[in-house]
Amino acid sequence: MLVILSGVSGAGKDTIKKELIKRMDNVTTMPSITSRKPREDEQEGVQYHFVTKEEFENKIKNNEFYEYDLHHDNYYGTSKKILNEKIEEGKIIVKDIEVNGTENLVKLLKNDVKIITIFLKVEESELRKRLENRGDLEENIQLRLSRLYYEESKIKDYDYVIKNDNFEKTVQIIMTIIKNEERL
Ligand code: 5GP
Repeated sequence: MLVILSGVSGAGKDTIKKELIKRMDNVTTMPSITSRKPREDEQEGVQYHFVTKEEFENKIKNNEFYEYDLHHDNYYGTSKKILNEKIEEGKIIVKDIEVNGTENLVKLLKNDVKIITIFLKVEESELRKRLENRGDLEENIQLRLSRLYYEESKIKDYDYVIKNDNFEKTVQIIMTIIKNEERL
């Protein structure tokens, strides 16, 4: 089973994903491929395999991705090989993917893999507060807010929408969803 988490950056997807892996035995994740530079706390191969733009474009040509997207000028993609290997392990894979990639993966794989899509919703005022506290410039805040409007226009395509205003509550809800979906 593949559980996809979407929502604007700042929605807390990564922290939630890590918490689910900690609390549920049969839950795992998988790295995506990206052309963005690693952040300070990121290790190669954990959340991402980091490649150059050219390397990414070669992988596109070689048909190595189920889906990929250009997001804030960086490529992100789901490797066919990595996802196939993870599915064969038989575990529940929790993965954060933005809205376009989610739409493409569901279209491609829905007949072969059980896919659950969850959208984590953050209020505009809350996101603005987080970005302002982080010291983001107004221009960047506007960019992120316009992305929020775009991502939220896709909400209707998701199986579940959770208002992510309390970390513990959100984790509990997702654990319940996973347990219930496993039984279906
Ligand atoms: P970040 O740079 O903050 O790690 O990620 C930016 C966005 O890319 C997030 O919304 C994240 O969910 C998305 N993302 C991560 N991996 C993939 C992927 O394999 N494919 C697509 N389409 N988006 C991804």
